[in-house]
Amino acid sequence: MDCAFLSVGTELLFGQIINMNTVYLSQKLNMLGLNVMYHYTVGDNSKRLKDILEFALKKTDIVITTGGLGPTQDDLTKEIVAEVFDRNLILHEPSFERLENYFEKINREMTENNIKQVYMPEGAVIFNNDIGTAPGFGLEKNDKIIICLPGPPKEMKTMFENYVQPYLQKKSEYTIYSKVLHFFGIGESLLETKLFDLISGQTDPTLATYAKEGEVSLRITSKRRTLIEAEKSVLQMIKEVSQRVGEYVYSYDDEDFIEAVAKKLIKHNLSISLAESCTGGLFTSKLTDIPGISSVFDRSFITYSNESKIKELNVKKSTIETYGAVSRETALEMVQGVKEKTGSRICLAVTGIAGPGGGTEEKPVGLVYIAMMFDSEINCYEYRLKRPDRESIRNYSVLLMLNHINQALNEKGFGSQVSGVGNR
Ligand code: ATP
Repeated sequence: MDCAFLSVGTELLFGQIINMNTVYLSQKLNMLGLNVMYHYTVGDNSKRLKDILEFALKKTDIVITTGGLGPTQDDLTKEIVAEVFDRNLILHEPSFERLENYFEKINREMTENNIKQVYMPEGAVIFNNDIGTAPGFGLEKNDKIIICLPGPPKEMKTMFENYVQPYLQKKSEYTIYSKVLHFFGIGESLLETKLFDLISGQTDPTLATYAKEGEVSLRITSKRRTLIEAEKSVLQMIKEVSQRVGEYVYSYDDEDFIEAVAKKLIKHNLSISLAESCTGGLFTSKLTDIPGISSVFDRSFITYSNESKIKELNVKKSTIETYGAVSRETALEMVQGVKEKTGSRICLAVTGIAGPGGGTEEKPVGLVYIAMMFDSEINCYEYRLKRPDRESIRNYSVLLMLNHINQALNEKGFGSQVSGVGNR
């Protein structure tokens, strides 16, 4: 089935807000096996809204709108849809009760215009708004479907996931199952080369690569009549991919790098502590974004100055004087300091020159040392990063740290596993 997405709101046309609903809905609709053919945006104007709605309904089987369901005069979507589908708007009692309860709960008086939100087109399937006031709805006529959702992205997403997805699943003949694998240490072009025959020769499942700073992702998607068939086909392809390039995969489950590594640390109860110099706490900040990390993360030392490296981590003054703060020797003493202070099973230290100033011919901007201790095993790695700016040197240093942890985990048998619907 073909569908179109219509965003309603003058502020979108003025560029006052970024359209946050397009990407989310397009991805979700594609995943449901629907073909997204058009994206339209229209202001809060009844004539233009009616014109574009009629046009979109001629072109496609399903039109999904967001916005214009609220209580104010310029919220027109429902009224126009009712006109186009030739339906009356009638009070939807269950939604009215929900609205009353909502205002009671937040201890505010419900104004008259709020009731407008719960007048719904006759014969519509109503989608509750679990986190806001304006309900959404689906309406069908002559093989055409319109689905109207609230504009605020959080409300729209919650409604889509809770009610619209199951509603649309019943309409679609196909199920889509897809997995996203994330890679580090291999470029997009090399990955494509290694998977060339799979990417070019396959119609189902299909493979698509995406690159983002320092990382590559691969989406494997199957569109079949049943979920089990689609899943089987994706899992078979994952096996093939992992035989060829498995050593670069850090997640089979669409997790970002920090999430994938943190989950393994938590799962295997591996304690971790850090010393950060050039990254200034960036790793720690990302690590502490992960819920549950307190069970394994002990502490970080943000030792930016030479004094702090000496005082906090027992780095020898003579080491810094002889080799410099950015050196293999200093990184190794930093990580030993972390180990002595914390006793964590995994300890990491990073020191480098993030630039733009501070580089020399011998020690250029982008020189980074990462030292790691996993139990008593100690290693130090030198990088000469050719990245464009300070931010990307710091970000990439964090990815490299994650990569060292991840590789060590894989070597010690704490690697990633493929999960699927069948074994959930
Ligand atoms: P409400 O009940 O909040 O009035 P509504 O369905 O009437 O919901 P709108 O009035 O069109 O939605 O939009 C409300 C707010 O939601 C907008 O001011 C904007 O902040 C946000 N919003 C609407 N559409 C989008 C969009 N496509 N992308 C991002 N934000 C949006």
